[in-house]
Amino acid sequence: MDNNKIIDGKFISNQIREKIKFFGNKLIEKTGKKPGLAVVLVGENPASRVYVKNKIEKTNEVGFNSIEHRLDENVSEEKLLDLVNLLNNDSNVQGILVQLPLPKHIDSDKVLDTILPVKDVDGFHAENVGKLWSGLNSLVPCTPLGCSILLKKISPDLSGKKAVIIGRSNIVGKPMASLLLSMNATVTIAHSRTKNIEQLVKSADVLVAAVGIPEMVKGDWIKENAIVIDVGINRIEREGKRVLVGDVDYEECLNNASKITPVPGGVGPMTIACLLLNTLLTSYLQFNEDPIELSSFLE
Ligand code: NAD
Repeated sequence: MDNNKIIDGKFISNQIREKIKFFGNKLIEKTGKKPGLAVVLVGENPASRVYVKNKIEKTNEVGFNSIEHRLDENVSEEKLLDLVNLLNNDSNVQGILVQLPLPKHIDSDKVLDTILPVKDVDGFHAENVGKLWSGLNSLVPCTPLGCSILLKKISPDLSGKKAVIIGRSNIVGKPMASLLLSMNATVTIAHSRTKNIEQLVKSADVLVAAVGIPEMVKGDWIKENAIVIDVGINRIEREGKRVLVGDVDYEECLNNASKITPVPGGVGPMTIACLLLNTLLTSYLQFNEDPIELSSFLE
């Protein structure tokens, strides 16, 4: 196996979290205030519980305050909105994350749009979405931000390169398209109604797969020397064991790719690092300190 091809998200995310701790400590020393991240979990979804536990652990590790709120599955939308408003007005809270998915009786869009844009560390508020597409400073959704940091470390300018994203979700596919455009790539988004995805992927210099279909992308779809970013996290049964696989067939795609993210250990750890990065960036802003450049985290 050619280790030079592997984009080690675990290693890069560790480096980023170290830098977050460094800049966080500087901020705490200067202002006497500690960045706080509030995480709201509704219900008992097992995957969500694991994500929230990880986020809280990593938040504490970098020296920030984590504030956890667990609400019953049957909580009313009104009660959840009241909590979000309380957190909006709490000066000990700089970032608010409401773990998705929410139970069906709650309007997720309404909840996300109630979070103050400056505390919206997931970058899902309409104001942040609009700013991202307008090329203005904003809080950017964590998973695509993580993918763009990995890409910038390999190739900061994608002028003349063709990027194909599979998936058009608000969480990954759409913001990823905006970030790739800002890196000067020519971007195509494929989705469930797209025809001839295989042909599209074969033309891509950069592929971002965010579909949720285990190993959908096959080795012979990958253009020679393409960069492959695999966002997918799929739990499957293989040879009697539960394993995690991405949306691309990693072993097959390794052949043609110049660089590729593994699953696990690729995009996943970058997502949490970027949540902390967003919390740090917005804390600088909320504590009226000069902003830190994102480039500080690319070295
Ligand atoms: P989603 O279900 O919201 O969106 C999936 C997208 O794939 C949709 O836009 C749909 O149009 C498209 N799609 C579905 N079937 C398709 C097909 N046959 N051909 C082409 N496109 C198709 O999912 P999401 O939230 O964007 O997540 C996508 C994947 O990324 C999932 O595996 C999820 O677990 C993973 N994910 C990982 C992280 C991370 O931190 N690594 C974060 C978020 C999501």
